[in-house]
Amino acid sequence: MSTIPRIAIVGAGPGGLVCARVLQQHGVPVTVFEHEPDPDSRSQGGTLDIHEDTGQVALRAAGLFDRFLALSRPESQEWRLHDRHATLIRHDQADEDDLSSPEIDRGQLRALLLDSLAPRTVRWGHSVRAVTPLPHGTARLHHHDRTVEDFDLVIGADGAWSRVRPALSDAQPSYAGVTMVEAHFDDVDHRHPGIAQLVGRGTMSAKAGRRSLVLQRNSNGHVRAYITFRGPKDWHAGLDLADTEAVRARLLAQYQGWDESLLDILRDNEGGFINRPMFVLPVPHTWQRVPGITLLGDAAHLMPPIGVGANLALLDGAELAQAVIGHPTIDEALDAYESVMLPRAIETAKTAQHMLTTLMPDTDTDEALFPDAAWPE
Ligand SMILES: Cc1cc2nc3c(=O)[nH]c(=O)nc-3n(C[C@H](O)[C@H](O)[C@H](O)COP(=O)(O)OP(=O)(O)OC[C@H]3O[C@@H](n4cnc5c(N)ncnc54)[C@H](O)[C@@H]3O)c2cc1C
Repeated sequence: MSTIPRIAIVGAGPGGLVCARVLQQHGVPVTVFEHEPDPDSRSQGGTLDIHEDTGQVALRAAGLFDRFLALSRPESQEWRLHDRHATLIRHDQADEDDLSSPEIDRGQLRALLLDSLAPRTVRWGHSVRAVTPLPHGTARLHHHDRTVEDFDLVIGADGAWSRVRPALSDAQPSYAGVTMVEAHFDDVDHRHPGIAQLVGRGTMSAKAGRRSLVLQRNSNGHVRAYITFRGPKDWHAGLDLADTEAVRARLLAQYQGWDESLLDILRDNEGGFINRPMFVLPVPHTWQRVPGITLLGDAAHLMPPIGVGANLALLDGAELAQAVIGHPTIDEALDAYESVMLPRAIETAKTAQHMLTTLMPDTDTDEALFPDAAWPE
């Protein structure tokens, strides 16, 4: 890099934050614009398994690997697969010193990344409305309050519904035909011993055809359930999603005939149900290079959640920062970054699409199909 560029990152998710961290480590100033009002305004979601060949590579590049290891839970790589009668079909034990993909709560990972940044790097409560290219390869950031700011590089790390993406591509996420309904259990070992037994130290999937029930242990005895099924996006037509008992009754009807111990996942949860229809970008998703603007993570390659999205976002973020540091111009850095990131994302998205079709076939069967390569999130 010959001169110090002005760099904006839109979005303080895992990808944007690791990118900011690696840039700062090499003395490159950066500002992250985040729509959420403050770091604690929203629960950051469930647990993430951080893979050796992607997410961990990024955390090493960011100098945060040891701190990640101290927080992570290798034992949570344990996984059980059941059929709908609760018969155990497969049980992968987790070795305490197996570091291939230890789990970490998403909130802990975000806090780790945020704490590693210089004070005031993140501008909270800043929604970006759009980005437009300017002559001479720079880019204009349009804030929600109608003010604008110009940068040499704007990085769209703003997730599925990216406001940066339209500067590069017309692609829009579309419904993948599968919905996840999230439910929560607190203090499972004392309050929900049946759920604690099902989930063990890690993840449990129960499957039959187009339906599954997934449990994941987070830290502090918290368990998240993902009630996942293939079906129309408006599966809840006629229901008020805020009416927990009505949603529960609809879900119980969908899982009729499943073992009672599994139905407790629908009956005993704390709080309401959160509807999460699955959206994906088209495959392949690519774009012609636009000087001064690029994307990373879900903004670039939103794909079915089969355990890779956050890992790829982390790797993209670290590699993009390294490209900026290692090349004399932003143009050359983007050439280097996109020529690796885009083909990788296309290949992974194809695999993810295939896995979703295998895991959630459009048929009603009793079979608990699970491709060997697939790992539940
Ligand atoms: C239920 C579920 C489970 C998953 N489990 C796993 C897993 O185990 N492993 C895994 O690797 N992946 C998992 N994923 C996928 C993973 O969550 C995403 O791929 C990952 O979070 C993408 O990271 P990101 O940094 O690209 O974007 P995000 O994490 O989506 O972060 C984007 C950030 O941008 C901000 N933002 C959005 N719009 C604007 C705007 N206009 N202006 C300013 N800021 C904005 C958002 O508030 C957010 O903070 C899962 C996904 C789901 C839905």
